[in-house]
Amino acid sequence: MSTEFTRQINPQPATDEVRAAVLENPGFGQHFTDHMVCIDWQGDVQKGTGSWDNARIQPYGPLSLDPSTSVLHYGQEIFEGLKAYRHQDGSVWSFRPEANAARLNRSAQRLALPALPEETFVDAVRELVRVDEAWVPSGEGESLYLRPFMIGTEPFLGVRPSKQALFSVIASPAGNYFGTVEPVDIWLSDTWARAGKGGTGAAKCGGNYAASLIAQLEGDAHGCSQVLFLDPEREGAVEELGGMNVFFVFDDNRLVTPELTGTILEGITRDSVLKLARDRGMQVEERAFTLDEWREGKRSGRLTEVFACGTAAVIAPVRRLLSHDEVIGSEHERPGEVTMAIRRQLLDVQTGRAEDPHGWLTRLV
Ligand SMILES: *Cc1c(COP(=O)(O)O)cnc(C)c1O
Repeated sequence: MSTEFTRQINPQPATDEVRAAVLENPGFGQHFTDHMVCIDWQGDVQKGTGSWDNARIQPYGPLSLDPSTSVLHYGQEIFEGLKAYRHQDGSVWSFRPEANAARLNRSAQRLALPALPEETFVDAVRELVRVDEAWVPSGEGESLYLRPFMIGTEPFLGVRPSKQALFSVIASPAGNYFGTVEPVDIWLSDTWARAGKGGTGAAKCGGNYAASLIAQLEGDAHGCSQVLFLDPEREGAVEELGGMNVFFVFDDNRLVTPELTGTILEGITRDSVLKLARDRGMQVEERAFTLDEWREGKRSGRLTEVFACGTAAVIAPVRRLLSHDEVIGSEHERPGEVTMAIRRQLLDVQTGRAEDPHGWLTRLV
């Protein structure tokens, strides 16, 4: 059963000129479309009761929250990230949105927020993209980035799950990630952890990001755009980047990525890369991967490529791993063949230039 959304159209949408200027050079996360989705929940997570009501499209704009609103004090917040791509024939598609819907609900469970029916999630995305279709870029490699999120909205102070919640979706045109794919340096965070056993590492929640920012600052200071976190439970085992999963390519047609231990975010790009690699006949290993193996692989030359992946940047080749006391990899590293081939394959499916044998695409418009 699909959710009925009421539509309150923005009386003052961006002018064609303003929108055209944004689409000319969208950047990432700087500009938002004319509308947003909001759906309210009331209930009791512990009792498993409650309902989602008042699904609506409304003009994009500030939320009004009481200063005692629970999310502001106790941090019940989760989010998702996915993209809508315009295909050559003008149609607009999203990539595995049901996987984002399912993951949102896993995050919700961990943060004691209510589950949202998966169809409602996909309907919400579709409604927003339909009303703001003019904001979906059509340039090579461009997309409309969608940011669903959920917060506890009950006004009260006290430590228990909120009895009110808001699910919302906002959208932001995203620029070209094709073209020059410059390998990135990443910073090894040996001081800070983003997740621990039994913690929220596997949930996509703002709190994880808040905890990673200090490490990000350290990385920035060393010229690194991303931070690599280690598994706090296993000495020297690589976990993931602040917002991306990480892969290692060996010269014997092997692809290795850290296994999902409960402290790693289960990336949808990660899962898709694993499937594409198997399709390519690669031997895929999900297991603990240590810094020692990284060093040794680089020394022997058997570790030929390292890359990171996530919805926003798709696949980013990694050049070097820097830390306070060492550098692994060379500054002359070029984007690897396997990295670029998988990247191309994924982008071709997303943008409709290749077959979609796994049924990953959902038409929105
Ligand atoms: C979102 C996210 C990823 C990537 O997930 P995708 O579904 O591929 O976008 C990886 N790590 C963290 C911590 C994330 O929040």
